[in-house]
Amino acid sequence: MRPIVLRGGRVLDIAGHRAEPADVLIDGETIRQLGPPGMAVPAEAQVVDAAHRLLMPGLVNAHTHGHGSLAKGLGDRWSLELLLNAGPWVGGSRTLEDKYLAAKINAVEMVRKGCTAAYDLYVEYPLPTVEGLEAVARAYQEVGMRVVVAPMMADRLFYEAIPGLMESLPKSLRARVEQVRAAPYEESVAACRQVLEHWPFDRGKAALALAPTIPLHCSDAFIVACRDLAAEYGVGLHMHLAESKAQAVSGIKRYGKTLTAHLDGLGFLGPNFTGAHCVWLTDEDIQRLGDNGASVAHNPGSNLRLGSGIAPARAMLEGKVNLAIGTDASHCSDNQNMFEAVRLASFVSRVGSPETQSWLSTAEVLSAATEGGARTLGMGDAIGRLAPEYQADIVLLDLNHVNYLPCNDPTNQIVHSEDSSAVDGVMIAGRMVLQDGRFTTLDLEQLRRDAESATERLRGATADSKELALMLEEHVGRYCVGLGREHYPINRWVSG
Ligand SMILES: [Zn+2]
Repeated sequence: MRPIVLRGGRVLDIAGHRAEPADVLIDGETIRQLGPPGMAVPAEAQVVDAAHRLLMPGLVNAHTHGHGSLAKGLGDRWSLELLLNAGPWVGGSRTLEDKYLAAKINAVEMVRKGCTAAYDLYVEYPLPTVEGLEAVARAYQEVGMRVVVAPMMADRLFYEAIPGLMESLPKSLRARVEQVRAAPYEESVAACRQVLEHWPFDRGKAALALAPTIPLHCSDAFIVACRDLAAEYGVGLHMHLAESKAQAVSGIKRYGKTLTAHLDGLGFLGPNFTGAHCVWLTDEDIQRLGDNGASVAHNPGSNLRLGSGIAPARAMLEGKVNLAIGTDASHCSDNQNMFEAVRLASFVSRVGSPETQSWLSTAEVLSAATEGGARTLGMGDAIGRLAPEYQADIVLLDLNHVNYLPCNDPTNQIVHSEDSSAVDGVMIAGRMVLQDGRFTTLDLEQLRRDAESATERLRGATADSKELALMLEEHVGRYCVGLGREHYPINRWVSG
């Protein structure tokens, strides 16, 4: 492959709030050199015109669910618990082709909106499969996007996970719910081992991790088995943690301690651990995560949409937690726009206190969405920065776009003005995946047709699950709102 030189662009300096003119030489997948405009490059280098383009590191989505893309917009006034109640409806009855298609749509939206790598917690019912996970990774590879795929698993149903919920349901509904059983954890662990053993992809581009979904949904034996399997294969662990108040209160009921303290007690927290959401953390919980070198995937859009609360991001930074930003799934946020996620991360940091010094700065947010995210993926020394020897994951923003008329401060404007509409080019591992606003890797018209026929079929296949979910909604809602009214030592809602 010929080297590439991006000529005439301006390279973002996040901390410096500047974008100075510079050329970038890319050899294969790697950035070799950043230098002054017109710098000497090998004669065979292919010149790519980057005039009037702002070059920034690709955004890293630290928490998404590829299966969610086909369920975009299905819900409205759902709390987290009502979303989980709707799980079999919004994510069930998927064929292998559906799994591939959902991941592909997710990847397409992320790349189109300036994101070059993602941590995808992908669910398959009742348990992960080799074919399913490989189809997901293949979808990302075909779009040209980097991914860590983590099978999302549970050995308890949602109705068993929340103490007292199953017993609170009317008899007839309870009988229907009890017909479904979660897979025994040994089967999920065995499937993961098989996938880890025979993974056919380049792990720098499509890696694996493990995601026992939520502490309450997983037996301790399952959590420990995932911990050990991750250690054996050197992969990451990702779990939803203290996302809603109902979960936080249920954690105390089940474990007699916070969810984070429980995971710490199981030896689950470490540098390879990412906690998603982490809204209802106590100061001690933040300390536990920081002391263990853990990461948090902060999902402000999803936390707002599900009414989960505002995560204490400033306290996490102070506690030396690695902060990253995610969109969460399209069935709860309802898009894959990392520019929106960074803007929300900035904005929600400002509603809890009039102390401006406690708010997240635009540079802090953008670092979290690039370098912070790269660390959660276990790729902190390969992506997240535009620097020599880093992978060439570069987003080109059109400086002629009205978002930059005028360009006063690129860092502030990327976080507070950009909505992804100025994304003009996306390079991943040295390959232009999006050029002049168009994909070089796929046929969007075909994707649209596939999405339409899949959703048409899924509407029929999930009709019974939908009916049951809607009947349960009132009961689940009432019970979990009750949990939300119980005492908890902290409050993460703006008005409690
Ligand atoms: Zn999630």
